[in-house]
Formats: sequence, C-alpha cells, structure tokens
Amino acid sequence: MEDLIVIGAGAAGIFAALAARESNPTASVLVLEKTAVPLAKVKVSGGGRCNVTHACFEPRLLIQNYPRGSQELLGPFTRFQPRDTIAWFESRQVLLKTEPDGRMFPVTDRSDTIIGCLLGEAKRLGIEVRFRQRVEKVIKQETGFEIHLKEGSPLRCSRLLLATGSSPEGTAWAQHLGHTLQPPVPSLFTFNVPTSPLKELSGISAPAVRVSIAGTSHVQVGPLLITHFGFSGPAILKLSAWGARDLHAMNYRFDCLMDWVPHLSLSAKLQVLLQLKERVPQKTLLALNPFYFSKNLWKALAGSSGDKLLANLAKKEIQALAEKLQADKYSVEGKTTHKEEFVTCGGVTLKEIDFKTMQSKVCPGLYFAGEVLDIDGITGGFNFQNAWTTGYLAGTAALSIHGRR
Ligand SMILES: Cc1cc2nc3c(=O)[nH]c(=O)nc-3n(C[C@H](O)[C@H](O)[C@H](O)COP(=O)(O)OP(=O)(O)OC[C@H]3O[C@@H](n4cnc5c(N)ncnc54)[C@H](O)[C@@H]3O)c2cc1C
Repeated sequence: MEDLIVIGAGAAGIFAALAARESNPTASVLVLEKTAVPLAKVKVSGGGRCNVTHACFEPRLLIQNYPRGSQELLGPFTRFQPRDTIAWFESRQVLLKTEPDGRMFPVTDRSDTIIGCLLGEAKRLGIEVRFRQRVEKVIKQETGFEIHLKEGSPLRCSRLLLATGSSPEGTAWAQHLGHTLQPPVPSLFTFNVPTSPLKELSGISAPAVRVSIAGTSHVQVGPLLITHFGFSGPAILKLSAWGARDLHAMNYRFDCLMDWVPHLSLSAKLQVLLQLKERVPQKTLLALNPFYFSKNLWKALAGSSGDKLLANLAKKEIQALAEKLQADKYSVEGKTTHKEEFVTCGGVTLKEIDFKTMQSKVCPGLYFAGEVLDIDGITGGFNFQNAWTTGYLAGTAALSIHGRR
C-alpha cells in the first residue's frame, strides 16, 4: 500500500509529489502517468520556453488574473506565490528572468530546463514515476483507495491526489467519489470576424482599445492585435477568458464593439476632430493622424473622410467618424485557439475543496491540484502558478497529515 498515489505527471502532479516527499521523506509516493512522457504541456508551453510564472507578488493583484478561482486562490497565494516559485527554482540552480510584460521564463529560454529540474528532483527524492499507466477506475475503500489500471493488478494507497488536468477521466472519478462538476468550456481564444474589413492589416496592433461584447457586461481595455482571421491580443484573450461561459452559450456568435480611443469620450473625440477642422482646414485627417494610430489602421478607420481636406468635411461626416471610433461594430463568428494554448475552464466545483489543504470536503483522503479544478487563469504564466501553488499545498498536506496519524 502506497502512502500517496498521484495521478497525472503534469506540472501540478509532479510538483505535488515533490512537496509530499519533502514534507515526509519516509513516506512512499508513486506518480502514475498514462502517456510515455511527463510534463508534456510544460515542454510546449510558452513556445518551448515555458512561461513558468508571472512577476506579480501581491496575492490580491495576482488573483485578478483568474476568471475562475480568484477568491479561492487568495489564501493559497499567501502560502505559495510567484516569489516562492522563483525561490524554489533558484534554490535548485534554475534562474528565471522577467520579460517587460511580467511573464517569467527560465534564463535558458528552454522548457527543458524546467523539466530537467523537476524530474531531477523527483529522482533525488526517490519518487517513482510510472509511465504508460492509464488509470481506469478509482474506488474508495474503508481505508484509502484502490486504483485500477488498464493493465495489471490494482494498486492501493491511503491518500490519493488527482492532478489529471483537463482530462475527462479525472473529473469523472471525482464525480464518482461524490463531487459535482462545472462543465468544461474553452477559455483563452481569439475572435474570428470573417467580414472584418481590417483583416488585410494582419499584424497591426493598437496599444489600448476598449472592447465590449454587445448585450453583456463583458468589457476589457488593452492592446488589440489585428489578425488575418479577426482579432487577438491581450484585450481579446481576457474577454475570451472572462466571458468563456457566456460566449460558449452564444455559440461564439456575437457583436463586439471597439472604442478605439478609450481615454476620450464621444464628445471629446468629436471635439478633437472639430478643433482640427477649425485650426488646420487645409490638411487631411490622414496626414494629421490625431489619435496616433499606425498609418494603415488610421487609413482604414477614417475611410473616405481621411483623404478629404478638413475644410471639405461636413460636420455629419466628422460626427460619423467620432461615432465609429467610439463604437465600431464587428460580427464575431467563431473562435480560434491562441497559439495552441488551449485552456479549459470547468472542473471540480471549488466549494467542495478545502483550500488550506486542497483536500476534498466530501471524500476524506482525496486531494486535487491544477487544472482538474474549476480554476483557470489568463495567459501569462498564471495557469502554471496555479499548478505550482495547488500542487505544493496538496502534496504538503497529503503527507504531513498522514505523517501525524
Ligand atoms: C500549448 C499550451 C501552452 C501553454 N502555455 C502556458 C504558459 O505559457 N503559461 C501558463 O501558465 N500556462 C500555459 N498553458 C496552460 C498550462 O500548461 C496548464 O494550465 C498546466 O499544464 C496544467 O497542469 P496540470 O498538471 O494541472 O495538467 P496537465 O499538464 O494537463 O497534466 C495532467 C496529466 O495527467 C495525465 N492523465 C490524465 N488522465 C490520466 C489517466 N487516466 N491516467 C494517468 N494519467 C492521466 C495526463 O496525461 C497529463 O500528463 C499552456 C497550455 C497548452 C496546452
């Protein structure tokens, strides 16, 4: 009988196993992984560089990056946050660096560095990781759990930690063991706008656009990237994350409204244009570019009004341009995965978990870590931080409680 079995050798499972073994070096820890490779998502994340965490060290600010799980993560982040992640890797000779947008990567710019460190630690601590071990069934027994594999005889453990990511098997066992589930729905995607007249400007971005979704309260301000299929960039990705459930319910068909100059109200935008007409009537709006857009974007937004001398622009044309800059409507028809970074919201319902220990409130001895829970972050290293934090808490609690028994 193992003291602890961890199912899933992803970021959360491996980190949990390390924490468990460190908290109780004499206990046995076994990790079961259905594939032939551990940490597969770590390998491909951040374009092969692994965006380990984010340089945000204030738990109250950090939680604002989690559309689901924000309140629940506040306590955990006071116990293990990005600063602890940095220190953990640093004490194992893996240095992280911060990019201007706050994302943190290993200084080597290689996810293999992170994988090598985690697996090296597992080896050093004597943690057994078994590959090609597809768990098919989990049965609660009077003391502990019985784990049925696709092949071979069942295994037994006194504590069980589910770190199966977004795999439907993990959540199905959780349900079987008494948990309720939040249905899985994609998060972090970009918007397809087949009719967008801006598509040919693919690659051009605007530094701050206020994007709102018509008929909902979802709104985000941030950089917007024009792509050959529609829109991407931080403002869109955040909208997709916070609006994940609503947008799924709309079957990804909705109108979004762009306020291209969000720091100015409609009347202020109008004022700027009218004052230009008065002051420099012999110039064109295209030449003046009063809102500092990239040249081609401004040309597209200003349309036919851009080429005319301001003296020849009627007030209603100026009004129409101000209105367009205030609420420019685009019809979204579908979504595209962001750089293959597919994150799923949904999973085990959070109120059924004790966030001090990550132990189930409905099935004693059962622990959870990572994406199996109904927690997801926006892009930037927040999903891995959730895996490190919940993995650390779950692993530590699973065996320190065991050790005291
Ligand atoms: C392409 C891509 C890029 C990403 N980039 C980033 C990034 O840069 N920054 C960031 O913060 N987040 C990123 N993410 C999200 C991040 O990778 C995940 O949030 C994180 O890996 C979740 O870790 P986890 O351990 O909970 O789950 P996973 O990494 O999914 O691990 C779950 C493990 O459980 C195993 N498993 C499942 N079912 C069974 C079973 N029945 N039996 C045995 N084993 C089983 C799986 O094979 C898997 O190895 C990215 C995701 C993707 C897909």
